[in-house]
Amino acid sequence: MKVLVLNCGSSTLKFQIIETSESGAVERKLARGIVDRIGGQASYHFEADGAAAVNNALVVRDHEAAVGLVIEWLGSKPGLKPIDAVGHRVVHGGDRFTSAVLIDDDVIATLEALCELAPLHNPGAVSGIRAARKILGDAIPMVAAFDTSFHHTIPQQAAIYAIPYELSQRHKIRRYGFHGLAHQHDIARYAELVGKPPTQVSAVTLHLGNGCSATAIRNGQSIDTSMGFTPLEGLVMGTRSGDVDPALVSYLARKERVDAAEIDNWLNKLSGLLGLSGISNDMRELTAAYQTNPRARLAVDVFCYRARKYLGAYLSILEGSAEAVIFSGGIGENSALVRKNILNAMAWCGIRLDDAANETMIGRDGRISAPQSKLDVFVIHTDEEAIIARETARVLEKK
Ligand code: ADP
Repeated sequence: MKVLVLNCGSSTLKFQIIETSESGAVERKLARGIVDRIGGQASYHFEADGAAAVNNALVVRDHEAAVGLVIEWLGSKPGLKPIDAVGHRVVHGGDRFTSAVLIDDDVIATLEALCELAPLHNPGAVSGIRAARKILGDAIPMVAAFDTSFHHTIPQQAAIYAIPYELSQRHKIRRYGFHGLAHQHDIARYAELVGKPPTQVSAVTLHLGNGCSATAIRNGQSIDTSMGFTPLEGLVMGTRSGDVDPALVSYLARKERVDAAEIDNWLNKLSGLLGLSGISNDMRELTAAYQTNPRARLAVDVFCYRARKYLGAYLSILEGSAEAVIFSGGIGENSALVRKNILNAMAWCGIRLDDAANETMIGRDGRISAPQSKLDVFVIHTDEEAIIARETARVLEKK
């Protein structure tokens, strides 16, 4: 089945064409591209295997125009036609969508209602779905795959916040968790690499990119994850604070004479690595300045400390059943320094890095733990698009 995977953010559209099946056993990526800065003077980059890449800049007023641009380009590439299905990435599936779903009018109406829970993330996806349906019509089935659904197995004790129960009920407040497509991919890939079914592996996945989250996975299922009601909770991220004392919000609002929306902005956009270092949210710059700039060092150290704290907590709730720690995301895949700093001082639970493997495992999948390590440590390149394509095939093949 040839799937067009669409990942629409508020002002970007990324796509891939992936030939796959439910199992992903035989998978081929045929084309990929991005439209950036939708809503004004945009740029795009499209490339298909065996053809020259195209780059251009032009006004792209909305997602419909962006999807139109992609479809028109696909139409000019005979090898890419026909598309059998479209798989859409949607960040928030709320409590309604516990797995990928075939898109119909009812699903779109529910996704629109969910924009309230994910105002930064879901509107772009909904625009992309509407645009694709308008351009491609009903003949091509479309599936939505959610970043929250992998976490629907988190038990109530880990999902509920200790605030008045009625408030949680009234406003659907709970730990939803995010990055689910990434964690699902990473555990499936690890299982493949060690030759086991995903349902027989338990591990802690550390997905460290601009956004960062940790997940405790037991027998292939998420039982806890560090992002919560929103993607702000948990680990230190590029510009997000992760965990803070919730009393900071009202304290800072009073002291700085600003409203809650401003604090929200500080915690989401000006905190994390950027806020701590005062230099950058880019881990490459911070690790390069680690030896020479105390604030860069502070940011990296706090980032690694928080990740280690979650790792310890998750090894504990997995009750010793974890067999692996898995690093992914731009930082997890590429930074040997961050991996080492997180795992340093984890010898108490038998984790031993192979330093040479850690230094050289950059941007490729493989084991970085020493042979005597009690737990495997793996680096895995996250491929969310592949999971979306496989989920799309699964939904349609079942149908
Ligand atoms: P997103 O969450 O937006 O998908 P990515 O997974 O692409 O982000 O990760 C982006 C992060 O990865 C940035 O902080 C970037 O600095 C970091 N990164 C990429 N390459 C390296 C590297 N070689 N060393 C350290 N950090 C890196």
